[in-house]
Amino acid sequence: MADGAAGLIKRVGGLSPAARGAGRALHRPLLVLWAIGQAFQGRGEHRWSAVRDAVAPMLSAYAGAPAGAQSVVYPFWALRGNGLWEVSGIEGLVLTSGGRRPTLSTLNEADPLAGLPEGDFKILSEDAELAARIAGSVLLRFFDPLPAGLLTAVGLEELLAGRVDTSLRPRVGEPFSNRDTIADAYGGNRVLGITPLADSILTAYSDDKGPYADKRIEGTDFIAYTGDGLSGDQHIRGGNKSMQLYQVEQRALRYWHKPHRGQWTFESWAVIVECHRRWGRGEDGKMRREFAWILAPVASPLRRTWPQHVLDALAEGDGLVHDHTANTPLDETDEAETLSDLDRYRQLAAAAGRTASRRTQRSRRTEVDRYFRSPAAREAVIIRSGGTCENPTCLGHPTERTDAGAPILEVDHVNELSNGGDDVPEIMIALCPNCHALKTHGRNRRQLRAALLPVARQRHRTFLEGAL
Ligand SMILES: [Zn+2]
Repeated sequence: MADGAAGLIKRVGGLSPAARGAGRALHRPLLVLWAIGQAFQGRGEHRWSAVRDAVAPMLSAYAGAPAGAQSVVYPFWALRGNGLWEVSGIEGLVLTSGGRRPTLSTLNEADPLAGLPEGDFKILSEDAELAARIAGSVLLRFFDPLPAGLLTAVGLEELLAGRVDTSLRPRVGEPFSNRDTIADAYGGNRVLGITPLADSILTAYSDDKGPYADKRIEGTDFIAYTGDGLSGDQHIRGGNKSMQLYQVEQRALRYWHKPHRGQWTFESWAVIVECHRRWGRGEDGKMRREFAWILAPVASPLRRTWPQHVLDALAEGDGLVHDHTANTPLDETDEAETLSDLDRYRQLAAAAGRTASRRTQRSRRTEVDRYFRSPAAREAVIIRSGGTCENPTCLGHPTERTDAGAPILEVDHVNELSNGGDDVPEIMIALCPNCHALKTHGRNRRQLRAALLPVARQRHRTFLEGAL
């Protein structure tokens, strides 16, 4: 292999990522770890018999394989397919009936020499930091939590004890001017939003450009990360499929963030604690169903370091998608056409009320729920407003609409200074930008708020009676 360190990282990243605990998938990662440990100690070539005797006990102890030499035959032969292993003198070996691998007896008899490709051995034996980084990524992907004794068994105790997570690259906080410079340094796709680096660990990129930036959820340190797909309904495929896998397997991904006009920074490791489906606006300006992945930042990708509230959120998670688009159809959906404004208002007000009643618990989970449910209250108020400012003393509401055909209205709590209050339509009001500014900044804002509260309550009652 003449592709240098970058190629080596990519080939190790190509080791089968799935089927944790399924036994067989761990054979090759384990042989790679052992080979790196040997390279770190300056040993590059090994007789089959040496590999067999060293690796067989590890396979049964750490990879769930049956005890005995036969288990070593598989990775000894198959790892060649990953470009990470070479066996010399294979011409004379007798293969099994399927031709897939040599028999144990023929290997025992020929006892061929094998090892990492020479270029890889040179890199790993000369660059301890790189060896640690590569071995660290294998340990994180396949052996977290780290089984007792594994580092010693594969000869990596000295190199990695206590620093599996800090050996990984990039480091948290590393800034880059653009996606190309990230890819030049760490590989991976240059465009996709959810995609792994060359080491195969998933990365979620979050760009604040535009009006639909990913947001921190108030009252928590969680991030609502919009899924993969720029326009049209999003589906569980591509990046969203990778996210779902990480959610199910409870693995940490890298969260990169770019503030408006700022630099890309590997901001934090993060774990996906929930998934929501919500209405959003695609790049084409049209409403669509999109996924919001709830990311919990963690200081390290190793599970044993995660704080209790993250472990709790993972334990509470049912792994299901919380679909907020089912109960709150929008104008552009078929279901909406069959519902009257009154029925929709009732539905939305009830959804908002359910969230508000749970709010007293003040848990992070409630805050996440509230974050997704409050659009129900806002949409209800928009319906109630009939598209015009609800302030009875309004001096004139702009008739122009947005690109999406929506009225220019701001929905807010009548008194936002009362610490928010519940997100329920009876204490919220739709105001034109002028009235909103008067309520927020005007000299008479206190009187205006006092006057608007009964207006909101009255309009809520009247609308429910069908009289508005
Ligand atoms: Zn107004």
